[in-house]
Amino acid sequence: MNLLISFLLTIQTSVTMLFTLPALPYTAEALAPTMSQETLNFHHGKHHLAYVNNLNNLVKGTRYETMDLEAIVRESDGAIFNNAAQVWNHTFFFEQFKTTGCEAKGNVRTAIEKKWGSFDAFKTEFNNAGATLFGSGWVWLVKDANGNLEIVKESNAGNPLTKGLKPLLTFDVWEHAYYLDYQNRRADYLNALWNIIDWKVIESRW
Ligand code: MN
Repeated sequence: MNLLISFLLTIQTSVTMLFTLPALPYTAEALAPTMSQETLNFHHGKHHLAYVNNLNNLVKGTRYETMDLEAIVRESDGAIFNNAAQVWNHTFFFEQFKTTGCEAKGNVRTAIEKKWGSFDAFKTEFNNAGATLFGSGWVWLVKDANGNLEIVKESNAGNPLTKGLKPLLTFDVWEHAYYLDYQNRRADYLNALWNIIDWKVIESRW
């Protein structure tokens, strides 16, 4: 009997705790001063975690309970989409940094220079997209089905996967991403993020 209960509890646990907070691939102080330890503690340890917990609660008893995260992002809407996309977006965002960023090379650099003329021109347009995004959201570098690059602005939890685009890079422009370090200076935050981008990660997404 105890064994049966134990078995049932194991099943229950496995279906109701589908998603977990991925660990950061660096220490919480590794990205300072671009992103302080305090910002990462809140942004990853509180905000990202809250989206994971919300998603686990929301999918219980729904058809999404057995889907992987990307499938939920592609197929859901409302509160489930908002929390699933925020889990996906933050995981993708936090994976792309390291203490000292490196230069873009290879396919990604070639495609950026072909599209924008120079790497600096691309960064200027990307920063401008982030600075002019009204309210909360995400700026994305994406690749379409023909291999063309685009900069896409998405409000709130928006994710270009829902438009058939392949995300390569994203900047979080929700105030919680920068307010502790930059207060209202979103443009300074966007400009500083380039210092910690690990372009090897972006190339691996190509
Ligand atoms: Mn965020």
